[in-house]
Amino acid sequence: MTYYSGEHLSDRETSTQEFVRSLAKAELHIHLEGSVQPETLREIHPSLTLDEIRANFHYNGFAGFLKTYVWVTKQLHSPEAYALATRRLLESFERQNVSYAEVTLSAGVILWKQEKLEPVIEAIASEARNFPHIRVGWILDAIRQFGAEQAARVFAVARECRMLGVVAIGIGGDEERGPASWFELLYEQARAAGLGLTCHAGEVAGPASVWDALRIGAQRIGHGIRSLEDPNLLSFLRDRDIPLEVCPSSNVCTGAVPSLREHPIRKLWDAGVPVVLGTDDPALFHTDLLHEYTLAADIFGFSREELKQLAANSLLYRFPQRQ
Ligand SMILES: [Zn+2]
Repeated sequence: MTYYSGEHLSDRETSTQEFVRSLAKAELHIHLEGSVQPETLREIHPSLTLDEIRANFHYNGFAGFLKTYVWVTKQLHSPEAYALATRRLLESFERQNVSYAEVTLSAGVILWKQEKLEPVIEAIASEARNFPHIRVGWILDAIRQFGAEQAARVFAVARECRMLGVVAIGIGGDEERGPASWFELLYEQARAAGLGLTCHAGEVAGPASVWDALRIGAQRIGHGIRSLEDPNLLSFLRDRDIPLEVCPSSNVCTGAVPSLREHPIRKLWDAGVPVVLGTDDPALFHTDLLHEYTLAADIFGFSREELKQLAANSLLYRFPQRQ
């Protein structure tokens, strides 16, 4: 199911969607690879049937999700394939009236595939220039459990590619098997080079993982939903104005949260923690940004004023662009 067309929605959902569409807003937590729809993969690999692709999109739990994510990434075997993924993603931003986006590229996975990173970044940056009314910043993400040496390669490319629109670096993957402390020096170097620092943390692991991310200088936290378990951490995030990039559908689909109704976004918001809504991997979680805002209204009781504030946050917490 997709939500782009507004089909199968009630009148109330449609009007919320229309309201959200009209808001100036940004998408700050989305992975390019996780945005690739089955139809786009078919364009890349005409020999695959949609049924075959959809079968690979099925997964259970976090481990199953990661397998699917890696499968999709393996299908992106050339800079041109990444460029097509970028085109389709920016078309979806157009439909949703998203005027700014920071898109994460799983750079660590590209190196793991033993492919060159620079041609991919050149290809996606070039494609993004075909959409002059949407500003795009790129975040290069390293994989925690692959270690600091590989992350150093990723972040070196990030520094070199700032003129192509790379605005930040991050780490994702297994919080337990790749502690943030391994990356402390690399984060310091990236900050000194003018790059923004984000970090997936507190998605599956507890508040200690978020503290570790803050200790190495993270300016935004990817997910961070388990911060709710530590009142001191909530105060810290609020007082230091450090936002959480919260992606409710993602957390339910991966099993990080048992159900939407149990999702902590409302409690985080009420605690005064800055929140930015994101989709994470919209193709794999059957969502888009309009849908996440609609959930905020329908499931978590966000008023129109609060939806406006969420949209304003998404623009407020952008990383600085070089040009
Ligand atoms: Zn993510």
